Amino acid sequence: MRADFTRANFSEARHLVLKYVCATCWGPLVERIEYPDSFVECAKSDEDCSKTGFVTKSYAERRHAEDHGDAYEAKQNLPFLKKDAPADPGEIIKDITGG
Ligand SMILES: [Zn+2]
Repeated sequence: MRADFTRANFSEARHLVLKYVCATCWGPLVERIEYPDSFVECAKSDEDCSKTGFVTKSYAERRHAEDHGDAYEAKQNLPFLKKDAPADPGEIIKDITGG
């Protein structure tokens, strides 16, 4: 059995597919039935995702919202940083640290 699969009965598998997403790509999970077992895994191919486990959909949605907020803040600050930032990395460090 591959480590990136979760063996489950039908009811457990349905619950996992409905309530969880891939911990690596936050993509949907799929159930694969190999009678009498069911396995749950990321829907992406092995080449597209390392499939390290599952997280709840609510956790992924909260993290996505936080990332969106961070991106918005970075976009707001970027013009200021571009305009006033020194070109020399040493000067940037001095500017940040005050020395
Ligand atoms: Zn994935």
